[in-house]
Amino acid sequence: MRRKLLSSVKTVQWIPPSGESRMTGMLEARPDWCLSRQRYWGTPIPVLHCEPCQQPILEVSVIEQIERTLARRGVEAWFTDAPNDLAPQARCPRCRGTQLRKDTDILDVWFDSGVSHEAVLKPREDLRWPASLYLEGSDQHRGWFQVSLIPAVALHGKPPYERVLTHGFVMDGEGRKMSKSLGNVIAPQEVIERYGADILRLWVASCDYREDVRISQVILEQTAETYRKIRNTFRYLLANLYDFDPARHSRPPAQWPEMDRWAIQRAQQLLDEIHQAYEAYQFHQVVRAVYQFCVVDLSAFYLDALKDRLYT
Ligand SMILES: [Zn+2]
Repeated sequence: MRRKLLSSVKTVQWIPPSGESRMTGMLEARPDWCLSRQRYWGTPIPVLHCEPCQQPILEVSVIEQIERTLARRGVEAWFTDAPNDLAPQARCPRCRGTQLRKDTDILDVWFDSGVSHEAVLKPREDLRWPASLYLEGSDQHRGWFQVSLIPAVALHGKPPYERVLTHGFVMDGEGRKMSKSLGNVIAPQEVIERYGADILRLWVASCDYREDVRISQVILEQTAETYRKIRNTFRYLLANLYDFDPARHSRPPAQWPEMDRWAIQRAQQLLDEIHQAYEAYQFHQVVRAVYQFCVVDLSAFYLDALKDRLYT
């Protein structure tokens, strides 16, 4: 099983790539996974035992009967119904007796989340298995990513995801963890109230999430300034183009002034750059490229040079 898991890791695209060695190291070192827990509350282990023989009944057909009963009656039926009602055809494999009792252990909660791909992706027609992307904080190599991988490889021989993307955590402006006692917590709601949701969105998009990311009032002010520059560029373009009618005003490219051809070419370069960055999940590079284009290529050069043509 460990060998299968280790080779399955190589078939996944890890973003950032360091996720692969992290996961490999953890799988090499991990102990066996004990699936049962002795607790009152949780997902029951659907196994009946023969009372006289103390023998578990592990036949697939019996477990499937229990599955059908619980699908019909709800999982609470495991606790309220008699063993022979849960699986009417269950017999002890040794003595053929029907004096049965229910297992009292529950499943480790990580097993519940570890089979979510099975429960969510498989039954729904609009979704497909495996998932194209699993996305979580970098602490989940030990958690969700690993406990999802194990049942998938056991059941289907391959990972439940094609890509795994991990992000860092949000720190304050000096890179310290946020805490109430330090008084450096910045709540999303406060940012939205003070700056608007677009500033928060732009901040998220501009972060290099592969490492821990920083937020502070200074950083948010800078983000708001970036936003204003991009917005002003759009305003300028719209103010001059609102009455542009392609049917009446379009000219064939051969008649364009050289500078317009340059601007169109730069815009196309920008689009290519942005597409590549999105494909690689490098969202912060999209923001950087758009900002550079608006501020350097358009505002400082092209739109400035255009003034003579626009206002004469
Ligand atoms: Zn028996």
